[in-house]
Amino acid sequence: MRLANLHDRLTLVFDGGGVDVEVASSGRFGADPQAVYDTWDEFRSWAKAVVPADLTPTDLTPVDQTALGAPVPRPRQVFAVGVNYAAHAREAGYPVESVPIVFTKFVSSLCGPNVTVALPSGCVDWEVELVVVVGRRTHHVAPAAAWDHVAGLTIGQDLSDREVQMQGAKPQFSLGKSFPQFGPTGPWLVTPDELGDPDDLWIRSIVNDTVVQESRTSHMIDDVPSLLAKLSAVCPLLPGDIIFTGTPEGVGNARTPKWFLGAGDVLISEVEGLGRMTTNFAAAPSTDGARAFRTGAVGT
Ligand code: ZN
Repeated sequence: MRLANLHDRLTLVFDGGGVDVEVASSGRFGADPQAVYDTWDEFRSWAKAVVPADLTPTDLTPVDQTALGAPVPRPRQVFAVGVNYAAHAREAGYPVESVPIVFTKFVSSLCGPNVTVALPSGCVDWEVELVVVVGRRTHHVAPAAAWDHVAGLTIGQDLSDREVQMQGAKPQFSLGKSFPQFGPTGPWLVTPDELGDPDDLWIRSIVNDTVVQESRTSHMIDDVPSLLAKLSAVCPLLPGDIIFTGTPEGVGNARTPKWFLGAGDVLISEVEGLGRMTTNFAAAPSTDGARAFRTGAVGT
């Protein structure tokens, strides 16, 4: 099952088009793409009975890629994991630890799959990631049961202002990765049963025409079940929470010379079976995010 946020309405996506969930369910399930996770198991049962062969062309609406919003627009908690691929740990100069580095991307940074990001500085970097969407309240889950708590997967970009990230005595990932539109997600949620092996998906990102990151999610240090077990050992994970699971090697900050995103650049993010996102970049009024953070003054 593919589930999108189309024109701010929960929409099932089939090859021939989209089905509006509120209309098709006669109001049993609402249009809010976030609320569906509160009744996820019930929704899954209903959605399984929506069979493409039974649909007429009038049931289907065109899926306009530019009208797609974040598939999970207002999660209560956003977890993000740093340094979860050994090759990325090495390029970034971090030790390969057994304990994941966990931070958040503040919810105000989340956006849909096809946006134009206003660059707050000249040191914004790409990080393509697999994003997990939690389908059930999850506390103290064992790895073997963890996939049962996952509603689905989507693609994320953990855009990062490397200078803000490194400001201060210790790195502060959360703030440096939370400028507006620093969290593109999409194009839609895909349920794990649609994927051959949800623990082994190829993942890549392309800047303009250059493939800059290419790996497989099976190279994660902590795989999805392990992350759910470790995170839920501390925090109850709530339905509709999302988890950015870390990025593979190939970020711009680790290159010689460093390579950051500029106005006019196009960033494509792809994960096997999940589709692709296209993120554009434009100049912003403030071009020194780190200085703005230090001084609290913007545009001066
Ligand atoms: Zn990241």
